[in-house]
Amino acid sequence: MLLDLDIRDRRVVIFGEPAAAVASARRFARAGARVRLVGTEPAPPAATPAGVAHVAQPAAGDVPALLRLLAPAWLVVTTGPASELGDRVRSLCGQLKIAHTHQSVGPVGPRGRVVLVGGGPGATRLLTLEACEALLDADVVFYDRLAPTADLARLAPGAELVDVGKLPYHHPTSQDRIQELIIERARRGQTVVRLKGGDPFVFGRGGEEILACRAAGVDVRVVPGVTSAVAVPAAAGIPVTHRGASRAFTVLSGHLPPSTAELTALAGLGGTLVILMGMASLTQTVTGLVAAGLSPDTPAAVVERGFSDSQRTTPGRLADLPGLVGRVGVTSPAVVVIGDVAAFAADQVGADPLTARLSLLPDPGR
Ligand code: SAH
Repeated sequence: MLLDLDIRDRRVVIFGEPAAAVASARRFARAGARVRLVGTEPAPPAATPAGVAHVAQPAAGDVPALLRLLAPAWLVVTTGPASELGDRVRSLCGQLKIAHTHQSVGPVGPRGRVVLVGGGPGATRLLTLEACEALLDADVVFYDRLAPTADLARLAPGAELVDVGKLPYHHPTSQDRIQELIIERARRGQTVVRLKGGDPFVFGRGGEEILACRAAGVDVRVVPGVTSAVAVPAAAGIPVTHRGASRAFTVLSGHLPPSTAELTALAGLGGTLVILMGMASLTQTVTGLVAAGLSPDTPAAVVERGFSDSQRTTPGRLADLPGLVGRVGVTSPAVVVIGDVAAFAADQVGADPLTARLSLLPDPGR
């Protein structure tokens, strides 16, 4: 049974081993309670959240000291494994008629684990139920810039939240370091969520993280996510396949410009081409595709910041796309769609008159 209680400004006193007690303290502090953490050591545990008061634990037999701690509490929480102190606290709460609960939050046991979670293209509502469950269980979440971060504190109430945010060409935390961090935390017995934008296996380096965990003997599993490669075109009204228009779609990383062999294959394949991380190399890619035989009149579109309030679609002919993108000032993150299905984006044009007008202008650069 789940009870929804308003605990804002209520005094909550939490007992237990540091890892479990800190995770519980974080949950209550995020919900607005005034939290006092009764620690097993004289100093507060390293990860004690800001705003949580710490007090050293009295001996189980020191009833006056325990009463001083318990009397002002609205709720008393014991965490972790059973102990003499925990039993004494529960019995005193009974006598004082103070609400008491026991939480077995925190590390799941001596073996921690890593869950690689695909967070979808950035909107909380596109997280899967399994992703939400993994976040709810997490002790620590390492998240990227493109993951849905707006509601993380609510979705992962017991977790320390660590931004390993990747900006294009600027990785504050290197991939090797991220792998070290997730493995180190799992070895401490924590449940680690590695939250990524989209699907972990679509240009997400999820495979590398799986291999690193396996090599380190750490349990790891994957929760797939809604990939921007399909969802962001869809947000702009573009179906990546459409009967009679496209019976294949190819997803390409534009992180490096495609090789001549790739351009030739792509131009000859037909169907839809979806390019992620494609803004920096767009001119080279478009020029190469046209040189390889793709019609300059092929419909194309760039969709920026899919599923955000500032989502914008810039449609145009393939050959016009680089100039158009420069003129409207397209920025990352954006998905490029090339192929007949991109013409569906024209339906969206009415929503953005500037883009509509610009898309009708001839490119002065041509
Ligand atoms: N694993 C991710 C892709 C990571 S590569 C996935 O499956 O979606 C990062 C690229 O994804 C960005 O450069 C951009 O091309 C695209 N992208 C991700 N989220 C996006 C969004 N909300 N809007 C537009 N493009 C997005």
